[in-house]
Amino acid sequence: MDFYPVAIEKLIEEFAKLPGVGHKTAQRLTLHILNLPKEEVEEFSNALVQARGTIKYCSVCGNYTDSDPCAICSNPNREKGVICVIEQPKDIMTMEKIKEFNGVYHVLHGNISPMQGRGPQDIRIRELVARMSPEVKEVIVATNPTIEGEATAMYISRILKPLDMKVTRIASGIPVGGDLEYADEVTLSKALEGRKEI
Ligand SMILES: [Zn+2]
Repeated sequence: MDFYPVAIEKLIEEFAKLPGVGHKTAQRLTLHILNLPKEEVEEFSNALVQARGTIKYCSVCGNYTDSDPCAICSNPNREKGVICVIEQPKDIMTMEKIKEFNGVYHVLHGNISPMQGRGPQDIRIRELVARMSPEVKEVIVATNPTIEGEATAMYISRILKPLDMKVTRIASGIPVGGDLEYADEVTLSKALEGRKEI
């Protein structure tokens, strides 16, 4: 069943490892790459290696960055006293789109899911607690409106309340079971505005 030379099979295999890419798409991408001029393929492969090599996590918020702290954490115009907690770095992009949030972020890199055996120690909760100081006035929890996202929000509230911290949760309105990124800008901006203390 060896239709292709090993190098091609290998490339298909690598593409198929990407999220949302099935075998058919992997095959199509591979054949596309083989039809490109050599220089373009080199540029592509360099971009991959460079991105992976230079991008790291911000030591403060956990966002992707090429300089530490990241551009948001080191921006003197951002309000350091308001921390918005989200699940993934991509959620920062979503929040930034509405242009109404001027605080800083904390990326958890996941959520709490007892069903999947993921506890508080598996996400960046400890790092969040370590960020609590008199300077911090509010922690806005903007985890996804899923069972896991809600459980995570409740846990954060429970752990920060004894520290006398104001913890709020963005309002509902975002489709339940969905992901922050599926909320349009108006919905998300309303959800942020209508946040309630938890
Ligand atoms: Zn940062």
